[in-house]
Amino acid sequence: MTTGNINVSVENIFPLIKKFLYSDHEIFLRELISNATDATLKLKHLTSIGESKVEYGDPVIEVRIDKEGKKLHITDQGIGMTAEEVQKYINEVAFSGAEEFLEKYKDSKDTGIIGHFGLGFYSAFMVAGKVEIITKSHTDAPAVHWTCDGSPQFTLEEADRTERGTEIILHIADDSTEFLEEGRIQELLVKYNKFMPVPIKFGTRTETLPKPEGAKEEDPAPTRETDNIINNTQPAWTKQPSDLSEEDYKNFYRELYPMQFEEPLFHIHLNVDYPFHLTGILFFPKLNNEINLQKDKIQLYQNQVFVTDNVEGIVPEFLTMLRGVIDSPDIPLNVSRSYLQADGNVKKISNYITRKVADKLSSLFKENREDFEKKWNDIKIVIEYGMLSEEKFFEKADKFALYPTVDNNYYTFEELQEKIKDSQTDKDGKLVILYASNKEEQHGYIEEARAKGYEVLLLDSPIVAHLIQKLETGKENISFTRVDSEPIDNLIKKDEEKISKLSDEEKESLKEVITAAVPKEKYTVQLEAMDSDAAPFVITEPEFMRRMKEMSATGGGGMFGMSNMPEM
Ligand code: ADP
Ligand code: MG
Repeated sequence: MTTGNINVSVENIFPLIKKFLYSDHEIFLRELISNATDATLKLKHLTSIGESKVEYGDPVIEVRIDKEGKKLHITDQGIGMTAEEVQKYINEVAFSGAEEFLEKYKDSKDTGIIGHFGLGFYSAFMVAGKVEIITKSHTDAPAVHWTCDGSPQFTLEEADRTERGTEIILHIADDSTEFLEEGRIQELLVKYNKFMPVPIKFGTRTETLPKPEGAKEEDPAPTRETDNIINNTQPAWTKQPSDLSEEDYKNFYRELYPMQFEEPLFHIHLNVDYPFHLTGILFFPKLNNEINLQKDKIQLYQNQVFVTDNVEGIVPEFLTMLRGVIDSPDIPLNVSRSYLQADGNVKKISNYITRKVADKLSSLFKENREDFEKKWNDIKIVIEYGMLSEEKFFEKADKFALYPTVDNNYYTFEELQEKIKDSQTDKDGKLVILYASNKEEQHGYIEEARAKGYEVLLLDSPIVAHLIQKLETGKENISFTRVDSEPIDNLIKKDEEKISKLSDEEKESLKEVITAAVPKEKYTVQLEAMDSDAAPFVITEPEFMRRMKEMSATGGGGMFGMSNMPEM
């Protein structure tokens, strides 16, 4: 038997990195700007602890297109690299200088350094045939110039750059010329870098200044060219809730969704340090019964760098209907989604978010019930879905979930039971909760029940059949009954004998026709149920039959896959 080491040579691995490192070529820009940001934040840290003698100043990262030269430049005023550092950090693939820095300055936690796999830089080769680095360290070391055309060979020589910092020059490949288009780069900057912590300049823009004193009406306002800074370096979620007003939150919502004109109903500010780091702001939009509303509105960030708007596995499914931002360096994103769901940290994050949402709803309910009732129709779909899919959420929501009646009274489940316990029971003493699902269609039945003094709920959300099922489970003494279904007769006493307007003969022939046409196993036919011209007979569908149908209609995997729904 022989044993040995498999020999991995760079020649073999380089093309693989280029091809498979990231499926999305566009992220090269995010990676290079992340490195520029890291280099700037490192310098900030070193100057703050006196380990660097240079003036930190107001560093800016600049992205510049050279269309003619087919080049893209990314320049920073950060820490820079010496020749030795280029050897170590750039020439050794998969050696992360970011990780090394964090290890060295461990006790200074909040540096906000982004990098950690030591592969991001090489994503440049997904779009560039040749890459140059011109860099000058913040120390006295001379500037260096590194060039590589994507083969494992590189050149490294001294350069005459005098300003500290790094310029990365990408010679854009022929199949990637889209990255020489201003519009495309602008789009990427807005997508990935809109909230990064160091200002990013992309070209200039014309700024309109206030008119000078005594200017005439027809005089044009003066203008001036200023740097076009594409990012907000201090987005709301990075601040303390106590430093933010309602208006600040609304402004942040508009910043996140410039095309969304409807204001959010309320927000939840997330902020936790232990046992994981997570910040963020979630917004409840007006949802109504729009269960098919576009999901994927929550954006996931790591240290202010946009990562994805697919938060599946990180946020419980019922909360994906919300909007906002989650920022956590502790979510492992280099793993598959199915693994994510099994990850202990991710499970904790998901539980934390669920708990915060439940607590916020609970305090809104307690602090201003009237306002909570007003919002109920717009938020109920999330709450009902949450009650069905997350047991912990159910336990909390059971105390604030509301059950509106057709006359707009809003009861909690407990209040409702209290309200009807003496007036709405069947012959076995079971509480009968009457509800309607459609005010117009069931109008006659609703009126009849109301006339007898019964409370009738209006439950019209598309998943309410499932919730009813859950509420009844394990509660022997409660039964939900739709106002137009069969067992209501057990409850509603007929106060007087009704006289049919049909003659006996007419009834007989009508009965024959109906019983032939209506399948007995599915419906009940009452020939003299209603003393009305409009309804000489009534066909009702037993409650359980109706629910079966409703559940299979909503449970067919349509809106959410309903994977967590209770089995019928
Ligand atoms: P990571 O960011 O995960 O550490 P990268 O492949 O993106 O890995 O970068 C490798 C290393 O190269 C960085 O950690 C850093 O030390 C160095 N580096 C890359 N870009 C710059 C830059 N603009 N300024 C200074 N150092 C840089
Ligand atoms: Mg990096």
